[in-house]
Amino acid sequence: MRYAAAIDALKNILPAKSWSQNKDILAPYLCEWRDRWQGQAPILLRPANTEEVAIAVRICAAHKTPITIQGGNTGLVGGQIPQGEVLLSTIRLNKIRATNADNLHMICEAGVTLQAVQEAADMVGLKFPLSLASEGSCTIGGNLSTNAGGVHVVKYGTTRQLVYGAEAVLADGSLYDGLNPLRKDNTGYDLSQLLMGAEGTLGIITAASVKLFPKPKDNIRVMAAVESPAKALQLLNMVRGGYRLCMFELIPRLGMDYATQMPGHKDPFTAKYPWYVLLEWEFDDSEIPQDFAQKTLEIAVERGLVLDAVIATSEAQSGALLALRENLSASQKPIGATIKHDISVPTAKVPDFIALANAAVTKHTPNCRPLPFGHLGDGNIHYNIGQPEVMQPDAFMALEPEINDIVYDIVDSLGGSISAEHGIGILKKGQLSRRASPAKLQMMRQIKTALDPDNILNPSVLL
Ligand SMILES: Cc1cc2nc3c(=O)[nH]c(=O)nc-3n(C[C@H](O)[C@H](O)[C@H](O)COP(=O)(O)OP(=O)(O)OC[C@H]3O[C@@H](n4cnc5c(N)ncnc54)[C@H](O)[C@@H]3O)c2cc1C
Repeated sequence: MRYAAAIDALKNILPAKSWSQNKDILAPYLCEWRDRWQGQAPILLRPANTEEVAIAVRICAAHKTPITIQGGNTGLVGGQIPQGEVLLSTIRLNKIRATNADNLHMICEAGVTLQAVQEAADMVGLKFPLSLASEGSCTIGGNLSTNAGGVHVVKYGTTRQLVYGAEAVLADGSLYDGLNPLRKDNTGYDLSQLLMGAEGTLGIITAASVKLFPKPKDNIRVMAAVESPAKALQLLNMVRGGYRLCMFELIPRLGMDYATQMPGHKDPFTAKYPWYVLLEWEFDDSEIPQDFAQKTLEIAVERGLVLDAVIATSEAQSGALLALRENLSASQKPIGATIKHDISVPTAKVPDFIALANAAVTKHTPNCRPLPFGHLGDGNIHYNIGQPEVMQPDAFMALEPEINDIVYDIVDSLGGSISAEHGIGILKKGQLSRRASPAKLQMMRQIKTALDPDNILNPSVLL
């Protein structure tokens, strides 16, 4: 068997509960959410603590045996799926080590789910604002490693802005402790930040020291109907002042049509509109949310930015509005194959991106069904293209490389990024190596070689 010496050593030295070669136990770790990649691994490691992670990595390093790291397995670019490497899951690193309301920090192990972190913050009257539709399964280690975004970036930033630092086992099995929750620390390179968005290529994050925030006194969610992405952008410019806006999500008509076909989802409007924006404001002062939303929307209507609006008046209604947005991707499944992109451009160029991309992809594949939606407030659009009704799914997916090039050429021409929040993983490695500047690629390779000279950690990912 490949890597036999390392596997024997891992089995001899780690406790029996911390590894498995049972096919049934391994199976769920080897497939992923979108069914795009089927993985393989000779052994699954589930270390119980940082020390066991370090032991496992030291053994693999001694035998030059590669490791793939997996958290909650919700990644969308395949980086967590092993291609024959040893698979290390952080699922048992699931303790919250400390919460300190005075210093606004929490130290949690890498395998704690995002939802558990949010709930633990809530228990002490604070807020951890990272919010993704996958929060019940994704882990804090995965969030740091992918620098996850989500729906609150417009106010709170991406994951890298939400952490003080991280603890990580490096490729030689040594431990880096960057958990000190200091707001200011200018003693050279910020090594924890190097691990953010590194997709497990520079170290295995075993714990994180995350920032907590005072809970806002109140909040309100609104769905506004608008004529076009350009009007949505003008609305964004009107409402983004004052540190209140925490969500600004774009939904096209087609998305509303798909989402409202899912059980339990309802169009909040009686009339049909071409585009929608889902907004949320948070309040720390004595402002009455309903009055504020009403006043703001009236001004937006007067200015010709908003056609119609619904203000959520209960938690249930507020949740229903968010569910329409969060289930957009899933609601596309019944229409067949989709080619997906997670791109960003400077926020002001989002309307140009949507117009250019829609024209180019429908010219290339007539009757394909583009669905541009997502984080307009961050210039981040999920650009999913559904297959034409009459085409076979396989025939459409065969066009993916050409369609990707069309979309990414437009992204490049607008000064954007081919991966706004999901990362590079296995999926976009080829595109990154063709499109990133030679200087960027060289620096990334030099950093990787310095920290992992034998290419042990996530060797199939990123570079
Ligand atoms: C329904 C759904 C909605 C989503 N919405 C969003 C969204 O709004 N915004 C967004 O940014 N993402 C979103 N995602 C993508 C995904 O949830 C995030 O990328 C998340 O951060 C991945 O966390 P995970 O624990 O599942 O990581 P995994 O999928 O297990 O791994 C992801 C990558 O991180 C590496 N990794 C994982 N843990 C560690 C660790 N401890 N140390 C080092 N490397 C590690 C893996 O090797 C892999 O390369 C969504 C996914 C789904 C399925």
